[in-house]
Amino acid sequence: MVEPWREGKGRIGVLRIGHRPGRDKRITTHVCLTARALGADVVYVHEPDERVLESVDGVVKRFGGPFETHLVASWRDIMRSWKARGAQVVHLTMYGIPLDEAVSRLDAERDLLVVVGAEKVPWEVYEEAEVNVSVGSQPHSEVAALALFLDRATKGEWDLRPFEGEVRVVPSEKGKAVSKGNAQ
Ligand code: SAM
Repeated sequence: MVEPWREGKGRIGVLRIGHRPGRDKRITTHVCLTARALGADVVYVHEPDERVLESVDGVVKRFGGPFETHLVASWRDIMRSWKARGAQVVHLTMYGIPLDEAVSRLDAERDLLVVVGAEKVPWEVYEEAEVNVSVGSQPHSEVAALALFLDRATKGEWDLRPFEGEVRVVPSEKGKAVSKGNAQ
């Protein structure tokens, strides 16, 4: 189900591939949290690592959802199943086409799966993707690339999304204010 803040628009998924449990826990967690905060409905993590989802699910519980998290054994199955139901599948890589051009080709009514890598991305991912997208043709980070892509793909609407959790941050010029309870 598409949430009301994206009425008439497709669902957004993020697929994190190539996670190395020994060294990527923190950055994969940041990919998941960025996906949640910037408009995605679901994240898939390949290779499976329970510890990542424990952290992310803890944030979803405290700060709200809905946001689905899944550990997956096959990134190929996720890319193919989204494609089979008509989604646009984009892969973020510094070798892709410029962000502006890619965003102008998106159809907001279609579902969108955004694939980000870790170290080396198999060539097949480049081929399975409908389009390979570069956020500046320079190497940087999957977290930065994902954040900029989601901001542009949602035209900044991610910021309108309501989260219903136990804790809500109360924006403050100074200090750390939160309210507890199921407020929006
Ligand atoms: N060298 C690796 C390769 O050849 O696939 C990429 C390593 S990079 C640290 C990890 C991920 O960050 C990439 O797989 C890609 O998803 C993302 N990334 C890094 N720079 C990017 C850029 N300029 N545009 C889009 N995505 C980028």
